[in-house]
Amino acid sequence: MKNEHVTVLEIDQKAVLHNLNYFKQKLAANTKILVVVKAFGYGTTSVAIAKIVQDHVSYFAVAYASEGIALREAGISTPILVLHPQIDNLESIIRYKLEPNLYTFRILDAFLELADKKPLLHYPIHLKFNTGLNRLGFSHEDIPAILAAIKKSNNIKVQSLFSHLAASEDANEHEFTIGQINNFAYIVQQMYKHLGYQPMLHILNTSGIVNYAKAQFDMVRLGIGLYGFGNDPKETAQLKSILTLKSVISQINTIGPGETIGYNRAFVASRPTKSATIPIGHADGISRKLGNKKGVVFVNGQPAAILGNVCMDMIMVDVSKVPCREGDEVIIFHTQEQVEYMAQQCETISYEILTALSQRIRRVVV
Ligand SMILES: *Cc1c(COP(=O)(O)O)cnc(C)c1O
Repeated sequence: MKNEHVTVLEIDQKAVLHNLNYFKQKLAANTKILVVVKAFGYGTTSVAIAKIVQDHVSYFAVAYASEGIALREAGISTPILVLHPQIDNLESIIRYKLEPNLYTFRILDAFLELADKKPLLHYPIHLKFNTGLNRLGFSHEDIPAILAAIKKSNNIKVQSLFSHLAASEDANEHEFTIGQINNFAYIVQQMYKHLGYQPMLHILNTSGIVNYAKAQFDMVRLGIGLYGFGNDPKETAQLKSILTLKSVISQINTIGPGETIGYNRAFVASRPTKSATIPIGHADGISRKLGNKKGVVFVNGQPAAILGNVCMDMIMVDVSKVPCREGDEVIIFHTQEQVEYMAQQCETISYEILTALSQRIRRVVV
C-alpha cells in the first residue's frame, strides 16, 4: 500500500554522501567502511540509505536477520553482517547470503552444525570478542576452544574478527578504551598465530573513528556519523543534516482565557490562544516528554511550542503570534541542533530520537 501520509521524513542524499566522505578522509585509503543500517537505518530507512552509499562502502551491518533480509529483498548485494543473530534465524541467514556474527559457543556450535549438515563451503562468518562492553562476544580465554571448533571445518571461513568500544566518545575513558584496543590486538595475535590465515579486523564505531583513528585496522563501522551526528558538537558541525521531518497544519483553533487544549486539559489558556493541530504524535516518536512547552516545532520559520499533552497521533502547538493558515508546512526538525534539543528535553541521545521515528511517517529521498 502506498504511503500518502502528509508527515514526511526527507532524506538528503547529498548530505549522506558528504557525511560518508567526511569520515573517509579521516581514514587510510585502503580502510574499508561498513555502514550500520540497523533499526531501519537509525530510524531513517535502511534501504534508501543502503542504495545511496552502496557503491562507496564494503559492508552493511544490521542487528537482526530480518533487517538483512529486507535489504536483500530490495536488491542490495553488498555483504551484510548480522550483528546479533539468534539460532532460530540461522537458516534464513544462509538462505539470504547474510554473514552471521557468532558471539557465543551456543550460536557458534549451532552454526557449525548447520554448516556441516547443508553442507556449506567456506561460508563467511564473523567472530566478536568482548573487550569490556560486556554485551556480546567471546572472551580471550575462549580462544583455544574456538580454534578447536573451527579449525577442523571447511564449511566456514572467518571473514573478520571484531570488538566494540564501550565509551569511544568519552575523553574521561581514554585509558579504558586504549585498554580495549590493546586487549583486541592481543586476541588478534593469538587468533592469527593459530588460524593459518588473517581475517579482517575492526573495532571502531563513529566516535572511535573520530578519537582513535590509529586503531582503524582493516575496516570501521560507521553508524550515527553517517546520519549527521558526531557525538561532539565540533564533529557534528562538520557534518550535514540528512533529515527534515515535516508535516502540515490540519486545523487551527482559537480559544479564550480559561479554555483548555488536549487530553487531561493540560494546557489552560490565560489569554486568547491560537493553536495549530499537527498530524504527528507519540506513536510517531514525538515523546510525551515534549508536551507542555518542552518541545517546539517551526511554522513559517517561527518556533511554536507544544501545548498540553502529546497525543498518540497529534500535537497542538502555539501559533498565537505566528501568521499561518490550515495546510501550511510545519518543520518538526531540520538541523542537528533541533534534534539535539529534542534529545536534551527528553533526557536522551540523538540515537533514540531518530530510531523512535515510526514507520508510519512517509520517507522521501531528495
Ligand atoms: C550500532 C553499532 C555500531 C555503530 O555505532 P555508532 O556509534 O552509531 O557509529 C557499530 N558497531 C556495533 C557492534 C554496533 O552495535
